[in-house]
Amino acid sequence: MKPKEILDQARKLIAEYSSGDPDKWWYANRYVFARLQLDERQTKTAVKRRLLDAGATCHVCATAFDSTRGVHLHRLDADRGYSEANCVLMHPECHQKHHAQHSREQLPGTCQALCVKESKRYEDKPFFYWWDISPNEAERLDRHEAVAFVQKDTGYRCVLPTPTLKLLLTPQRQTTRGAGNWGIKVLKNRPNQLAFEPGRGGEAWLFLPVVWATEEQPH
Ligand SMILES: [Zn+2]
Repeated sequence: MKPKEILDQARKLIAEYSSGDPDKWWYANRYVFARLQLDERQTKTAVKRRLLDAGATCHVCATAFDSTRGVHLHRLDADRGYSEANCVLMHPECHQKHHAQHSREQLPGTCQALCVKESKRYEDKPFFYWWDISPNEAERLDRHEAVAFVQKDTGYRCVLPTPTLKLLLTPQRQTTRGAGNWGIKVLKNRPNQLAFEPGRGGEAWLFLPVVWATEEQPH
């Protein structure tokens, strides 16, 4: 079976399951999508772990890693998948430098690193977590395959592919903060959704169901 046929089968099964019910379709489609995405994250984590265990140093500066946290995994050949043979490790700062130097040769999107955004926990607000994205930052997001929204206190994270996130960062949702930052929160009554602030364009809040997981294990 070819990958396209696998996708067609999955679509067919989801359509059968939901039999025209848009809520059921949304749930099943999101469930399969999020789980497959998580599988990929776990594959990457395992490759990273094996490279670290084998004593891999930073591909850019050749220094050993002090801590395993935040170490970036980079695929040498963007057409090939995640394996020890095709991946190297880099410090986050070295990775930035690497891409700044290679940006002319490499198309945006070939960098597989995760952009990690952390939020402390707010107790006395209507929301638990709050991440701000500035317009400058939004432009640089194309260097990353995906963005991880991390809860600093629990270590739980949800990962959004950059193209999905960028679709939601519309001019209408820009707030009056900074140079027109976008606000993304976790509201207290919607713990399993990312809440996109309405912004000065006056749109409604937008909610995106997400899966919270630690870096290693699904929640
Ligand atoms: Zn380095």
